[in-house]
Amino acid sequence: MALLEPVELSCQVLVIGGGLAASCAARVANSVCPDVLVVSKGRYGRSGSSPRRVSAFAHQDAGPPFRGNPSVMLDTWVMDILETGQLINDQHVVDLVTEDANDHFSWSEWFGFAGRAREPVRDGQGGRRRPLRFTAPGHSFARMSPFEDPLSGLYDGNREALEIWGGRVTENVMITRLLTAGGRVVGAAGFDVQSGQPYRISAGSTILCAGGADLLYHPRRGEGQTSGDALALAYQAGAPLSNMEFVQFNLYPAGPDGKPTPHNDDLLYLAMGGTLLNSKRDRFMLDAELLLDQVRLELAPPANLVSEVFRQQSLGLGPVHSPAGEIPSDHNGLPYLRSLAELPEWQEKGIDWTIGVDRLLGGLKVDYRCFSPLPGLWANGESATGACGADCLPGYGEAFTASGGSVSGAMAARAAVHFKPWADFPKEQALEEERKLEQFGSPGASIDIAELQETEDEFRTMAWRDLGIWRNEDGLRQAQQQFTTRGQGLAQRRAASVDDHRHKRELENIALTGSLIAAGALARQETRGQHRREDYPNRDDRVWLKEFLLTAGPSGPAIAEQPISLPRYKSRHVAAFENTRVKFPR
Ligand SMILES: Cc1cc2nc3c(=O)[nH]c(=O)nc-3n(C[C@H](O)[C@H](O)[C@H](O)COP(=O)(O)OP(=O)(O)OC[C@H]3O[C@@H](n4cnc5c(N)ncnc54)[C@H](O)[C@@H]3O)c2cc1C
Repeated sequence: MALLEPVELSCQVLVIGGGLAASCAARVANSVCPDVLVVSKGRYGRSGSSPRRVSAFAHQDAGPPFRGNPSVMLDTWVMDILETGQLINDQHVVDLVTEDANDHFSWSEWFGFAGRAREPVRDGQGGRRRPLRFTAPGHSFARMSPFEDPLSGLYDGNREALEIWGGRVTENVMITRLLTAGGRVVGAAGFDVQSGQPYRISAGSTILCAGGADLLYHPRRGEGQTSGDALALAYQAGAPLSNMEFVQFNLYPAGPDGKPTPHNDDLLYLAMGGTLLNSKRDRFMLDAELLLDQVRLELAPPANLVSEVFRQQSLGLGPVHSPAGEIPSDHNGLPYLRSLAELPEWQEKGIDWTIGVDRLLGGLKVDYRCFSPLPGLWANGESATGACGADCLPGYGEAFTASGGSVSGAMAARAAVHFKPWADFPKEQALEEERKLEQFGSPGASIDIAELQETEDEFRTMAWRDLGIWRNEDGLRQAQQQFTTRGQGLAQRRAASVDDHRHKRELENIALTGSLIAAGALARQETRGQHRREDYPNRDDRVWLKEFLLTAGPSGPAIAEQPISLPRYKSRHVAAFENTRVKFPR
């Protein structure tokens, strides 16, 4: 196919992505400088994993009956997050997110997004509903309140603001390469996923918000839509990734086919009093040895819940079940358990639980300004790491994504104002990328949709088997080698259509993500949070309180260790953990 003329665009701030992170970053960047361009592979505000997240938000803002209660103080919330993330979190980032989150959500509420219920509200049937505050899994104190509106209201508000202030949005363009000049990111190249038209974009600052890698795992929650593009873009441009070994697995109600239901309200069910029983009807969480010891039973952090459920299943004591009728149907909070109510007969039969993958906790290493070590590049949301550590509290991700969005937008916009578009644009890098597009329809195009689908399924099986809840050295080595060679093999192949080319590029990114998870997990020879090693079953803060930075080297990832700085909050568990035995079936 003759190559279409590239579309050339320039902007002061380029935002890559169209989910919660991108929409918050673009709105705030646009309030500082008018020349903001959002480029998204899918529809802005309707693609990625954000539109399916609704649930709840954890905050310290006290309304009745919590006003004046120390459990809602900011420091308590910060400590909860750090402890659940097992101190691997960046404390500066956590501080910033927790301080900023309420401002962000207040702004959203002002824009018409019905957020936190602070005061009793009318239930629409003449009665008054109390605002819901409850202790969610992993939290030490009651600090959750569900949103009244789906998140789409927030995107719509952000988009409206962006358009009022003159920002631009380009949809259906997949960014495939960050362009660099003089060790700095100066733009990006990509292509229109419908027409195959190449894009060259010159940018002063670039904010990476292209999400995580939903498509890597199977079974997974709902339909995945992100394929590790952000991780591949950053890594291939020379930026370091961190925390790649930590993948968040979660509990989901099983649908009729036994797979996790695409669901938001799962952990709210446990928060509201649901219990977990094995097939012998034992409440096994009573005996669980937890990696975090101040919250027990069904309110343990997700890493503990998942690990214990997995153990029951491995012992042949599954499925793990919550009995019917534990949460009365007239419960105040039931409206929030929307998708549960759609499960057949949950009030009569209860719920069987299964394990699914929520998200990667690793990503591009950023600091508290969402700035990456690669000049010109910022990131937030699932593309970035720093806030979530080795595990993550329910309700914290949205706070991280939204406040990180605001911070990255403001910082990137300020840095971009002195930039001259096209001044040192690396045209040859863009051309190199465009040549990969020349292949469509060429004779002998060698990969078709059936093979792509088969490869995708094989990747998921490998990820679930070797990069799953419990891992060991043999499986990790095998996964690293397989993902690397399969990814390189795909890069050599040609696709028959634009659609297949997109699919192929996504699979290359998934393969790279899988190999980097394996590399991070091999480096961490301990068990921590959502990272479980059968061959290293204990956590030891004194030796292992450090993170691994993975940077592209000539023959695979170069791994550097970096100590975790604990400037304000110390681990209370260093001594205690020495003797902690973690129960694993053999
Ligand atoms: C630490 C953490 C904790 C979380 N906890 C919770 C929780 O408790 N409750 C909850 O409801 N949610 C939680 N989440 C989920 C959170 O709400 C989502 O992670 C968040 O909505 C993701 O937003 P995002 O914008 O980063 O990515 P996404 O919403 O996935 O958006 C990615 C966007 O990038 C675009 N894109 C992808 N690749 C490209 C490309 N190559 N070129 C151009 N565009 C591209 C996609 O089309 C999409 O628009 C948590 C997340 C994290 C990281």
